[in-house]
Amino acid sequence: MDGETQNTLLVKIPKTWVIHSLRIVIFACILLLIRLEARTRKQTFSDEGNTPILLQHLEIFDGATTLGPASASSGLHPVLDQNQRVLGYLMATSPEADHLVGFSGPTNVIIAFDSDLKVTATEVAWSRDTREHVSEVNEASQFWMQFVGLSWQELAGMQDIDAVSGATLTSLTIAESIILRVGGDVPSLRFPEPMTVADIQSLYPDAQKLVPSKIYKPGWEVLDENITLLGFILSTSPESDDVVGYQGPTETLIAMTADATVSRIHVRKSFDNQPYVSYLNEDWSWPELFKDLTLDEVAHYDLEANGVEGVSGATFTSMAVARGVIRTAQRVHEKPLLSEGTKTNNWKLTSADYGTLGMIFCGVLIASTHLRGIGWLRVVYQFVLIGYVGFLNGDLLSLAMLVGWVQNGIPWNTAARLVVLVGIAFTLPVATKRNVYCTHLCPHGALQQLARNRLKFQFHPGKNLKRLLLLIPIGLLVWVIVVAMLALPFSLVDIEPFDAYLFRIAGWSAIAIAVLGLIASLFVPMAYCRFGCPTGVLLEYFRRTRQSDRLHSADAAAFALLILTISLYWA
Ligand code: SF4
Repeated sequence: MDGETQNTLLVKIPKTWVIHSLRIVIFACILLLIRLEARTRKQTFSDEGNTPILLQHLEIFDGATTLGPASASSGLHPVLDQNQRVLGYLMATSPEADHLVGFSGPTNVIIAFDSDLKVTATEVAWSRDTREHVSEVNEASQFWMQFVGLSWQELAGMQDIDAVSGATLTSLTIAESIILRVGGDVPSLRFPEPMTVADIQSLYPDAQKLVPSKIYKPGWEVLDENITLLGFILSTSPESDDVVGYQGPTETLIAMTADATVSRIHVRKSFDNQPYVSYLNEDWSWPELFKDLTLDEVAHYDLEANGVEGVSGATFTSMAVARGVIRTAQRVHEKPLLSEGTKTNNWKLTSADYGTLGMIFCGVLIASTHLRGIGWLRVVYQFVLIGYVGFLNGDLLSLAMLVGWVQNGIPWNTAARLVVLVGIAFTLPVATKRNVYCTHLCPHGALQQLARNRLKFQFHPGKNLKRLLLLIPIGLLVWVIVVAMLALPFSLVDIEPFDAYLFRIAGWSAIAIAVLGLIASLFVPMAYCRFGCPTGVLLEYFRRTRQSDRLHSADAAAFALLILTISLYWA
């Protein structure tokens, strides 16, 4: 190597890393802004007090000019006119009711009282629930009118609420928040239907009568036609109404024998995704999760220590059901045990974790050694990857997942294998020049590799068409940023095909993208990977190549995305 070449290398090597560091910084800044935006949205008023928000609602009172300090006992702020006369009072339901979650978050409601402490108005100050549901509730004047004119005590004692059709859960949560804020016991507004024999017939075929239990409150004794005790029934509502699965709470019945051991659990009603919920009662083993345990044993049951992973395809819903049952058992025993959060802090690997981690190890090994040249090994590995990692475990990296993690935190304890997968996917392209995730770890990429050149007719797009097609994934990245920064009520899983691998619960959009992408791959090699996948574009952007020592059009696009994110943040 002559001196001139050496000098060139000395210049080029640092330049590559400078440019790559710049790319990482751009990406990190975008993530940071998404995170900051989400945190700003999540901040409760405990940070800054409700006063600024309450001041925005002074117009409820004619002639109101300012707000007095909150009463230490009730939290009511007097509303004052220019002569400092009290016109009425204002209070907000946050942060006291922040744990009451509708479809996707709590709602802070402003309650206005007149000087006789009768409600004059109730309004939503902010909500982290689904926007469409909140606007449905906002427009339902009948819903709000049921609170107007009630005294503090009447409000606290409210039991019958007329929910807003089409936004039942959100409206009931708002009502619960109001009742809770004025000190009332939160009644079971979400599952108010009285228990009937028909509800428990599948659990006790001989049941003829239900009477309130003297032992379990609230609970029922199940009697046959001879008034013989068949067992006991407990409901997880309202105790566990705030345990949300995929998108809502579930009322579960705990069926017990006359000897006071659990025989089955059974979902009675749920606001969760219906396909997920129906799996639970139909699953062969899930209803018997706590079978033969006493309530005391259920109260002490540790799901993680017992390796409970939920029902495949309905993991969030089933785990929420199990936690609701445990919470209810703890309540019945009036022995609050470890909080949910404390319990899940144990870092335990499941068999699915070991399986996917093993596949990651094999994938990285094959990708980085001469093994990748062995044709039969590659095909066997691809089939296992598609079947096990894809269809069975559903372990695919997606932008929806990444954005969720950035906004809500990384689930180190519950999704260890995905955390490793993401780590490998983003570090190896920089460190080794190989995009190992796309070539050896993505089940959808493997499917396209298997579909490659299967048909005689192959279409190879020209340069201009390629440039045009590449705008698709970039456009999708723009959409991801817009959705994340503006908290639009749009599910990002619908712009990628990866949810289709959990086909029992997948939406039509993900399935359609997956199927159409695969069909296209039969005619255009790796069509979806090359021209449709925003995740792939992102990973490829980080891959070191021979051209990594210079800036190119992808850097301009990344910079434009950063500017977009900054603009949305400041806007
Ligand atoms: S480009 Fe997308 S679909 Fe293709 S392998 Fe990469 S992540 Fe998977």
